Amino acid sequence: MVTGLERYGLINSGLAPAKFQIARRIEAERRDSIEDDHRQVKKEFLKVWRSYDASILEEKPAEYSFLHLKVDYLKEILRECVFCERKCRVNRYETVGFCRCGVKSYYSSEFLHFGEEPELVPSHTIFFNRCTFACVFCQNFDIVYEDDRLANPKELAMLIDIRRRQGSRNVNFVGGNPDQHAHTILETLLHVESNVPVVWNSNMYHSELLAEVIEDVVDVWLGDFKYGSDECAERYSKAKNYFATVTRNFLRAKEHGELLIRHLVMPSHVECCTEKIVRWVSRNLGRDTRFNLMFQYWPAFRAKEYPEIARRLNREEMRRALEIASLHLDNLV
Ligand code: SF4
Repeated sequence: MVTGLERYGLINSGLAPAKFQIARRIEAERRDSIEDDHRQVKKEFLKVWRSYDASILEEKPAEYSFLHLKVDYLKEILRECVFCERKCRVNRYETVGFCRCGVKSYYSSEFLHFGEEPELVPSHTIFFNRCTFACVFCQNFDIVYEDDRLANPKELAMLIDIRRRQGSRNVNFVGGNPDQHAHTILETLLHVESNVPVVWNSNMYHSELLAEVIEDVVDVWLGDFKYGSDECAERYSKAKNYFATVTRNFLRAKEHGELLIRHLVMPSHVECCTEKIVRWVSRNLGRDTRFNLMFQYWPAFRAKEYPEIARRLNREEMRRALEIASLHLDNLV
């Protein structure tokens, strides 16, 4: 079993329940404000989650569960969207914010992915359209700026169960980014029968409010840690207050689930980004954090307009990045 992902291994062996399957079985009620109701039921959820007791899977899902409550809560937040740290506060039933998403969600493809980290494959990846970032070097720009297929929660749930029977070790919500589709994803999970671990493959720029809601369905946070400085984040992704936001979210994610961090090394950014990130992770999340140092950067999309990143990595940058990571971290992919 991979260090840091023990619970994920237990879910796959049937010895622990996936979080959303607990949330489906905990009864909820609408009494006060939805925020207070959610806070109350969460206490009950956390007790069960901490017990690791897989016998809950033998119980029938509740008619109105903690997971239903979450879906309703997210649909309410959509009226003044603060899913991510941009906090556009637009009513997504009527218009769109920075991410260009209304209330409907679209996805580009879903399949068993064999190119993810060894502990994840085969991974049932569902690539949602759109993103809360606008990276000039977007490696998935063909997905991000389109609306492909309409995501129907019942149909997606059926596909997740089918892929599980075909051998998936997890369902991996990705994009683009999954955060802006949280309401659709959680509604999908209401209909999933299998005890499949949920992987949230994200830029970690979600709001604290979104974390509060989705952390009870995410078993593994597959989080991108892109930048070591706010200047770099603003220049390449139009993201403000980046470092404080993602570090807050990584710390919280570690408390509420398991972590696998990805860092795409960028040309000319080994000192300001790679080194700063690796040191922060080692100091704050631990040397044993599962960490994937990625060298596959290529100057996609509009990267050519930024001379310092308009090329692939050179050998010296790769060597230096690996040297830094090996010095501070013990659990590299
Ligand atoms: S998800 Fe983020 S970018 Fe999209 S509308 Fe909501 S706050 Fe804005």
